[in-house]
Amino acid sequence: MTLSDAELDRYARHIVLPQVGGVGQRKLKDSSVVVVGAGGIGSAVIPALAGAGIGRLTIVDSDVVELSNLQRQPLFRERDKGYAKAEMAAQFAHRLNRFVKVVPVQDRITASNARALLGGHELVIDGSDNFATRLAVSDACVAHALPLVSAAAVQFQGQVGLFRSRPCYRCFVGDAFDADDCDNCAELGVLGALTATIGSFAALLAINAIVGIGEDQAGKLHLFDGERLNWRTIQIPADRSCRACGA
Ligand SMILES: [Zn+2]
Repeated sequence: MTLSDAELDRYARHIVLPQVGGVGQRKLKDSSVVVVGAGGIGSAVIPALAGAGIGRLTIVDSDVVELSNLQRQPLFRERDKGYAKAEMAAQFAHRLNRFVKVVPVQDRITASNARALLGGHELVIDGSDNFATRLAVSDACVAHALPLVSAAAVQFQGQVGLFRSRPCYRCFVGDAFDADDCDNCAELGVLGALTATIGSFAALLAINAIVGIGEDQAGKLHLFDGERLNWRTIQIPADRSCRACGA
């Protein structure tokens, strides 16, 4: 796929980077990414990916905009209250970059529909707010051999990592949370600037993975403490008996 003059102008600050260049920008244009959750994480991921010129962006969210979202979800405005988040987020992305094909999906990902919804993409970014969804997304990514950037934030703690089949997110979390579909944020609270930090990191991981920048980060989990303001990185061991990726 080639880049038009308008695209060369738009992505000039990417293209001048030796790590990206025209080749990297075309990789972004050729890629298709699905973002699960247009919440606090998604509100950082979606503008970053749309701005970066990802060719096709699918946005999956079943909720409607509520006033309590606005503290951390700058995709939405007060007048969006009651409208579908997937659709509103898609309109935001389209207004930002008309070169991106944006597909809103107003649905909730479950163990039974995850493979169908995520198949056909090249990378998945999960910014959903509960373990049941995150595990269903991870299992589907393992089944399709899709790279997954999984990101979560609650209170002042954030975590984000890239998974490529093995170890998978389930190796890290285990099987105890499949039925846990409660909304962590509603119960525990979360700082808006924290979800933005973790979401931006997730977008960077995804872009680096697509373009092939830096060392492969697969299997590492990056943990951020929003009170002490520090990052640390742990290696996730593969679980031999993992029911998703185990032998
Ligand atoms: Zn696993």
